[in-house]
Amino acid sequence: MLYCAGTVFRPHMRMRAEFLPFCRPSIGEAEIAAVTGVLRSGWLTTGPKTAAFERRFAERVNASGATAVGSGTAGMQLMLRALDIGPGAEVITPSLTWVSTPNVIVLAGAKPVFVDVDRDTLLVTPQAIEAAITPRTKLVVPVHFAGAPADMGPIRSLAAEKGIAVVEDAAHALGTMYRDEPVGSRGTAVFSFHPIKNITTGEGGMICTRDAALRARLHRLRFHGLAADAHERDTQGRAPQAEVMEPGYKCNMTDIAAALGLVQLERLKAFNRQRARLAAHYLERLAGIDEVRPLGRPPYPHEHAWHLFVVRLDVDKAGISRDHFMAELKARNIGSGLHFKAVHLQRYYTEHLGMQRGMLPHTEWNSDRLCSLPLFPDMTVEDADEVVAAIKDVLASS
Ligand SMILES: *Cc1c(COP(=O)(O)O)cnc(C)c1O
Repeated sequence: MLYCAGTVFRPHMRMRAEFLPFCRPSIGEAEIAAVTGVLRSGWLTTGPKTAAFERRFAERVNASGATAVGSGTAGMQLMLRALDIGPGAEVITPSLTWVSTPNVIVLAGAKPVFVDVDRDTLLVTPQAIEAAITPRTKLVVPVHFAGAPADMGPIRSLAAEKGIAVVEDAAHALGTMYRDEPVGSRGTAVFSFHPIKNITTGEGGMICTRDAALRARLHRLRFHGLAADAHERDTQGRAPQAEVMEPGYKCNMTDIAAALGLVQLERLKAFNRQRARLAAHYLERLAGIDEVRPLGRPPYPHEHAWHLFVVRLDVDKAGISRDHFMAELKARNIGSGLHFKAVHLQRYYTEHLGMQRGMLPHTEWNSDRLCSLPLFPDMTVEDADEVVAAIKDVLASS
C-alpha cells in the first residue's frame, strides 16, 4: 500500500491524473506583457499605472474614487487609523472571516466584538449587529462572504442611527451586486487582490469610499503620512519638499502590481461568468448528495461573485470529520480550502481575550464542517464533475 498525507491509497480508488488545486490565478500573455512593460519603463513603484488602475477600478464598481494599497489587510489597517480607532473602541465583525481584520483591530489597541452569522448564508445579520452595539462601538465591519452581499440597507440605517462607521470587507465581493448597487459604489469598502481573489495583482488591495476627506487621509496614510500635492500626478512622484502631516504607513501599491491589475480588471466579467457557470454546475450535481450542503443564498436581490464555493459536510451522516474528508479528497488529487476556521477559537483569542467555544453557535457549527471546493476561472465543468465524483467516492468508502 502507498501512503500520502496520512491517507491510504486503495488500488480501486478513483483518481484524477493531475492535482486540481482549489484555486489558481489566471495569468495570460497580456498580464506578462503588461508587467514586462513596467519593468522596461524605468518606473516601478507607485506612478501612472497605479493612478490608471485606481481610475478604472472606481469606474468598474461605480465608486467616486479609489486608493490602491499593498494588501486588503493594509487597507483595513489604514481605515482603522483614518477613523481614529484605538484603545477603548469596540469593532463589531464576524469571527467567521480571515484573521486579518480581527488582528489589525487588536494591533490598533481596540477590541474585536465578534457576532454570529446566519447558519446557512454565513453572513452577518443586522439583528446580531444591533445586539452587540455598546456605547463604545465605533465601527462595524460586515464581510460579504464567498461573494454574496451582506444586507447593507438595514446595516447602514442602524449604523447611521447610532453614529457608528461601517467599512465593508469586500475581499470576496469584486463584481457582487447588493440589490441594484455594485459593492464598493456606496459607503466604504476594502477589496483584496491576493492571488486567490477574483482578480489578482500578486498582492494588493483597494479602498473605495464616497467620503472625499477620508480618501485624502487614506492617500496620505498609505505613504508615510506625507502631504499629497498637485505635483504628485505630474511628476509621478511626490515633491521632495512634501512634509509629514501625521505618522503614516508604507503600504502603497507598485506599478508592477497595478499593471497586472489593469489587465485582470478587463477580464473580471469573463472570470466571474465562468465562476458562476461552475457554481451552477456544482449546485446541480451536488443536489442529490445529502452529506454535503452548499451555502444558502440571501433572500434579497443580489448578484453573487462566486469567490468561493463552500459546502458543509454533514459529519454524522458521512461518518468522517471535515479534516478527514479534505485529506481523502487530496488523496484523490482534489484540493480544497478552509474558509474559515473561526477566529475566536484560535490560540491568541482564547488565551488572551478570554474567548471560548459556545459563544457563537452558528459560526462554530460551520467552522467545524465547512470546506471550499475547487473554483477558479481556468477550471472546466469536467473538472467540477471530477470533484463531484471524488466526493461520491470518498463518501461511499467511508
Ligand atoms: C483575503 C481576505 C482579506 C485580506 O486580504 P489580503 O489582501 O490578503 O490582505 C480580508 N478579509 C477576507 C474575508 C479575505 O478573504
